[in-house]
Amino acid sequence: MAVTMGTSWVESANDGDTDFPLQNLPLGIFSTADLDRRVGVAIGDYVLDLHSCFEQGLLGSPSASLLKAYTSHTLNILMSGGRKAVKPLRARLKEMLSAEAASELRDEVEKLLHSSSEVTMHLPAEIGDYTDFYASLYHATNVGRLFRPDNPLLPNYKYIPIGYHGRASSIVLSGAQIKRPRGQMKAPDAEHPVFATSRLLDYELEAGFFISEGNQLGTDIPLDKAEAHIFGLCLVNDWSARDMQAWEYQPLGPFLAKNFATTISPWVVTMEALEPFRVPAFERSAYDPQPLPYLDSTSNSQQGGIDLTLEVWLSSQRMREAKLEPVRLSKGNARDLYWTLAQMLTHHASNGCNLRPGDLLASGTVSGPSRESVGCLLEMTRRGAEPIELPGGEQRRFLEDGDEIILRGYCQREGYPRIGFGECRGTIVPAS
Ligand code: MN
Repeated sequence: MAVTMGTSWVESANDGDTDFPLQNLPLGIFSTADLDRRVGVAIGDYVLDLHSCFEQGLLGSPSASLLKAYTSHTLNILMSGGRKAVKPLRARLKEMLSAEAASELRDEVEKLLHSSSEVTMHLPAEIGDYTDFYASLYHATNVGRLFRPDNPLLPNYKYIPIGYHGRASSIVLSGAQIKRPRGQMKAPDAEHPVFATSRLLDYELEAGFFISEGNQLGTDIPLDKAEAHIFGLCLVNDWSARDMQAWEYQPLGPFLAKNFATTISPWVVTMEALEPFRVPAFERSAYDPQPLPYLDSTSNSQQGGIDLTLEVWLSSQRMREAKLEPVRLSKGNARDLYWTLAQMLTHHASNGCNLRPGDLLASGTVSGPSRESVGCLLEMTRRGAEPIELPGGEQRRFLEDGDEIILRGYCQREGYPRIGFGECRGTIVPAS
């Protein structure tokens, strides 16, 4: 009994290294040569067509709202149903894909599987708004020290989950090429700025989360209800032009240094799948202030964190030509974030700002306390002062044309199958 419990008849879903075992079931939007964009779920090396499952009556009795959700070209409608819609869907998918499924059911479902290598993934949602936070104390301190050595952390940091409104229109899916931006910048010793090609191009390793049910304009979302408004997570690479950023960021924060492109991974890992990997929120030092009451609760402190390992890998053009494998640059963990996802969400809505299904909020660069766990090159090379060595002998201060950045994320815990996020890839191409 224990042997088959939790395993799938899709053999590749039982491989210990797969990102997509039966316990994960992340949702996304895919198409094939013959099928238009549609809702799918990843299982092992396959994608199950939920649109067709629904049409064939495999997902329960058809209601008007489910029809809209499962035949849509984005996940927005499914997301708007809130977390309560996800639980029964996951339960049914587990039945359908379990090693214990009846053979007739299995035969029906098997026809609706597509090999991952034969599908094209698309953005999971139509993202109306995108907000990026700055939730890692380590990142904020490291970056602050580079720009303001005497005063790295501004006085608001431990009170407010700092964020800025990003740009939804330039969010692209994993695999899209990233054109090196041009913009205004000023060297510290130069008298005047110039408009030029960015040379200090960087990645930022982040976790993103999609809003499920939104809130009405003028209403807030209390902290202990915040997670009910989070549908699931993806990986985010917040590409950043540091030379443009240094010149433009004061006084209103990031603008063109960030909004030329943001890459996300295609699969949305639901909060339900992440349940076994919840951990206490970041433990504040005894010298730190407690969060203000609207950002503080026992359940947030006890289980607001997520034990999610996040890695950055790099493959340069020369490495690929020399047939060298990508190299891992860093390995961090989302549990090192100073603010929880719930605190970021509650703060965002605390003034009555309405969040809508499919909106994307991102954590900001996930950095840990060690040099091996920092989530961008700005920190790792100390703004270029300490370049890193790549296999094959190249050095990197910042990204070069042809560099591919690969983000990976996964959760593992003794006694539970490992679940993963898939990959978030992007390759830098020259400015035109
Ligand atoms: Mn960022």
